[in-house]
Amino acid sequence: MKIAILSRNKSLYSTRRLIEAAETRGHEVEVLDVLRCYMNITSHRPGIHYKGRDLNGFDAVIPRIGASVTFYGTAVSRQFEMMGVYTLNESVAISRSRDKLRSMQLLSRRGIGLPVTGFANKPDDISDLIEMVGGAPLVIKLLQGTQGIGVVLAETRKAAESVIQSFFGLNVSVLVQEYIREAGGADIRCFVVGDKVVASIKRQAREGEFRSNIHRGGTATEVRITPEERSTAVRAAKTMGLNVCGVDILRSNHGPVVMEVNSSPGLEGIERVTQKDLAGLIIEFLEQNARSGRTRTRGRG
Ligand code: ADP
Ligand code: MG
Repeated sequence: MKIAILSRNKSLYSTRRLIEAAETRGHEVEVLDVLRCYMNITSHRPGIHYKGRDLNGFDAVIPRIGASVTFYGTAVSRQFEMMGVYTLNESVAISRSRDKLRSMQLLSRRGIGLPVTGFANKPDDISDLIEMVGGAPLVIKLLQGTQGIGVVLAETRKAAESVIQSFFGLNVSVLVQEYIREAGGADIRCFVVGDKVVASIKRQAREGEFRSNIHRGGTATEVRITPEERSTAVRAAKTMGLNVCGVDILRSNHGPVVMEVNSSPGLEGIERVTQKDLAGLIIEFLEQNARSGRTRTRGRG
């Protein structure tokens, strides 16, 4: 196969591992900086140019699109889909996963466990919004944050009110969420390929912190997940329409709850901790599924 990896940086661990895994299996790989792909949007022969050259002959695309380039990156992926090239994760599914509100609404429609979550727009409604999610302490989240930035724990009702008011005052939308205290600052990252969880790690926040993100100083260890957690992760991936993703779960008193689904999950932490060849599994998934014109819009919304 001829595989394109959409990535801004060849030297990133995940990109390097995907190149290595593809080449080991005898495939040809090219890393394309998504911001240097430009598009010819015609109905007869949609195309993509790259640094002056017409891109063609690719059998599959692996989009590794950073949160800061979601808009342009998904447009380029969509263009590959228009050209009949198979994309590992479809552009619509990536867009869905980048919006926390949209993702939660889709997951709730399928009855997947979620923390009680509220969303409002007007300062007048803040008081009832806080009641709705069960009062303080509660978690306030920006719709498009990553790496734990934009996630605030408001310990008291007063703090919650003033933080939400400040965001509204700046015209910034936030989600307000039940705080899952019993998770103890830990979450479970389930790495899904196709319809299987192929690796799972537990990330534990550092002392005095509730966010388990590695970027916020969290540490990871391998973990055995329950059958319920496994099926929650697989159903969440299916609902989002993602073939490869990281499903983050909190262990709550009322069972596993999904916090978010990441469409470009990093390989570094989870491969090191579990000693699994996840890059190899991703390439094998492409070998089994990448067929021209096979990409179709799945899921809804
Ligand atoms: P990001 O996209 O920035 O990673 P998340 O929604 O994943 O944002 O939240 C970051 C971290 O904060 C999570 O990994 C988890 O440890 C903690 N967290 C988020 N929401 C809750 C919650 N409702 N209850 C308890 N902890 C939470
Ligand atoms: Mg997260």
